Amino acid sequence: MEHDTIAAISTPIGEGAIAIVRLSGEQAIAIADSVYRGRKPLAEVGSHTIHYGKIYDEEVERDVEEVMVSVMRTPKTFTREDVVEINCHGGLMSVNRVLELILSKGARLAEPGEFTKRAFLNGRIDLSQAEAVMDMIRAKTDKAMNVAMGQMEGRLSQLVQKLRQMLLEMIAHVEVNIDYPEYDAEEVTHQLLIKQSETIKDEIEKLLITSKQGKILREGIATAIIGRPNVGKSSLLNSLVHENKAIVTDIPGTTRDIIEEYVNVRGVPLQLVDTAGIRETEDIVERIGVERSRKVLKEADLILFLLNNNEPLSVEDKGLFDAIKGMNAIIIINKTDLESHIDLDEVNTYAEGRPVITTSLLKEEGIDQLEEAIASLFYETGIEANDLTYVSNVRHISLLKQAKQAIGDAMLSIEEGLPIDMAQIDIRRTWEILGEIVGDTVSDSLIDQLFSQFCLGK
Ligand code: GDP
Ligand code: ZN
Repeated sequence: MEHDTIAAISTPIGEGAIAIVRLSGEQAIAIADSVYRGRKPLAEVGSHTIHYGKIYDEEVERDVEEVMVSVMRTPKTFTREDVVEINCHGGLMSVNRVLELILSKGARLAEPGEFTKRAFLNGRIDLSQAEAVMDMIRAKTDKAMNVAMGQMEGRLSQLVQKLRQMLLEMIAHVEVNIDYPEYDAEEVTHQLLIKQSETIKDEIEKLLITSKQGKILREGIATAIIGRPNVGKSSLLNSLVHENKAIVTDIPGTTRDIIEEYVNVRGVPLQLVDTAGIRETEDIVERIGVERSRKVLKEADLILFLLNNNEPLSVEDKGLFDAIKGMNAIIIINKTDLESHIDLDEVNTYAEGRPVITTSLLKEEGIDQLEEAIASLFYETGIEANDLTYVSNVRHISLLKQAKQAIGDAMLSIEEGLPIDMAQIDIRRTWEILGEIVGDTVSDSLIDQLFSQFCLGK
């Protein structure tokens, strides 16, 4: 337990009419009481209750704010410490004034992520759950949010703990075998260890398979809209943004940038790349040059390539087909309201099996089919985001890879008939690596580094 009391503004600055100053620590209630005037002192109210009152500033000798104050006593709070939340009505000015008063009464300004860090240190959540809080704050789509919430609820932790339990049993079995070689036949132990190692390796592999989709859910599918000038790129961008506006969630106390370039197509998050280019000069090749636009293309996960139904395929079109060879792409023949001069067979040849959709963005036709095509690219596997334990955190992915390697090493030395304590070392290492995911075996410096990435007030 850390003993000082921390405070910070925990609502998005400048957003909404209400802002919250949050305090946590042994003195949270006493410090709040020193500036609060209500029907009763907060020290006398029940836990998990909310109270109307005023904030009094001694220096100017008057009430400066009207507030609603929530009091939550340890241990049933997010940090497991006493927590007070002061809801201020006014905007930034008033919340800053309240925070300043609180700090002048002995609270310390919280470091980024310190509330969550305390929740972790006090055993309220494990490390993967704490990281989920961070992911939630950054999540750009509903599905990414679901993944983070699942993790926050401890889904990944439970799975990892189950695997660690199995590893512990294996370790125990080997210990017995080393101490009492007569206890059972070595052969039996070997078979048992191989079987259990295989199960563990399978489970880790399954988790790793979800990680690619996890990353996509977290960051969005990097999508580039390309095509010759005037073919309809801006129109497509506008209709995608218009129909699938970026999501704003209202988890209390989280800040979210609303980035228009994130759109959510049937639950699939698209991060539209270089849309500024489309808006400003109408042509990314012209704006950033051929070399860089090739790089933008290279980094895209998905290309939306527009063609003009009203004209035959041009040299430029064929050049673009060349540039996106082998990439994930959807070919869109736009302007179907105009007379057709494009050779469909030729387009299909160049498409090389990738979906070809026809649209009239002007008449808002074909957009459904386009969205369908985007969604089916993502759901090829038929997996729905909510059903699975997804791994999307880079640190977790890297640890899972190491764990897979370690358990593989263990299997190898068992199969090669090396002394059993060799395998034991690798089994133990697997157990330790998995422990780092949930924070059982991590160093203090890693913890500091992880939590310092949080936003202030979380
Ligand atoms: P960009 O240069 O590729 O970004 O193309 P724009 O989206 O700016 O569109 C160029 C012109 O084509 C505009 O005048 C649009 O209104 C028009 N346009 C876009 N889609 C269609 C369509 O489906 N049919 C017709 N007839 N015109 C369209
Ligand atoms: Zn345009």
